[in-house]
Amino acid sequence: MDKNKIRQIYKKIRKDILDKDIKSRLIVEKLLTLEKIKQANVIALYSPIQNEVDITKMAKIFLSNKEKQLLYPKLEDNMTMSFYKIEKLDDLMLVNQYGIKEPTENSLKRIDKQSIDVMIVPGLCFDKYKNRVGFGKGYYDRYLSDATCIYKIGVCFYEQLYEDIIDVTEYDVSMDLIVTDNCIL
Ligand code: ADP
Ligand code: MG
Repeated sequence: MDKNKIRQIYKKIRKDILDKDIKSRLIVEKLLTLEKIKQANVIALYSPIQNEVDITKMAKIFLSNKEKQLLYPKLEDNMTMSFYKIEKLDDLMLVNQYGIKEPTENSLKRIDKQSIDVMIVPGLCFDKYKNRVGFGKGYYDRYLSDATCIYKIGVCFYEQLYEDIIDVTEYDVSMDLIVTDNCIL
């Protein structure tokens, strides 16, 4: 199945998933048990939109205990993104063209990709080889193409796992781990 068809189908599947709040909390609980997350100093998260897994609970925990630096993406020109450190959720003040909340621009808080330990990556669908189908713009593929040191954790609801193999291109960056409400791959 081509990626556009997968996107079309999985947007509908994701929309119809029940108890997304409870399942998002289960996903956060699973994430918090991971050694990679426990040991990370710098973690890149994302602001959820449109029925995506809501990992804000994890951000709140880390912001309150101040143990880790939290980064959020911001879209830049030429279809690229950068990651900026936030200190409180209110730092996510801007809303970009896709309706995603972003950190305000501050050159002091822009963090190089070499410093990122773990990135939590949203996705519309993942397969058992940890291949990913995203929003369709390739932002994460572009960012991660030269960031092999970052440990990449894809998150989605269990229903978003694709039973077949995603037809990937040379640009598609696969994940190191997938966490759903029901299993870890
Ligand atoms: P997504 O990963 O969001 O599901 P796609 O994998 O379909 O989206 O990628 C969207 C577009 O971005 C494709 O045309 C793809 O070729 C392009 N792209 C992705 N990564 C790169 C890259 N590293 N360099 C150039 N173009 C890229
Ligand atoms: Mg891709």
